[in-house]
Amino acid sequence: MSSARVRCDADAWSFDPRYTQGRCPICGWEPEGAPRAPRWLAFANRMDWQMIGLWALLDTLVVLGLVVAHATGLLSNRM
Ligand SMILES: [Zn+2]
Repeated sequence: MSSARVRCDADAWSFDPRYTQGRCPICGWEPEGAPRAPRWLAFANRMDWQMIGLWALLDTLVVLGLVVAHATGLLSNRM
């Protein structure tokens, strides 16, 4: 296996495009023939999955709270 490192002349920075989604991590230059990440993978890497998971957990807890409140009659007006 030959080394896949390329050098960006603009930044004097050498990098392996396999790990930077095919482009220079500093200026975004795309070297010739570098492997590119599929579009869905680039999109998935851009997403903030921790915050999405946190909001999903919060939504789940709110729904469970509403289910429990409804089951115990806390939401009905006839006390
Ligand atoms: Zn660069």
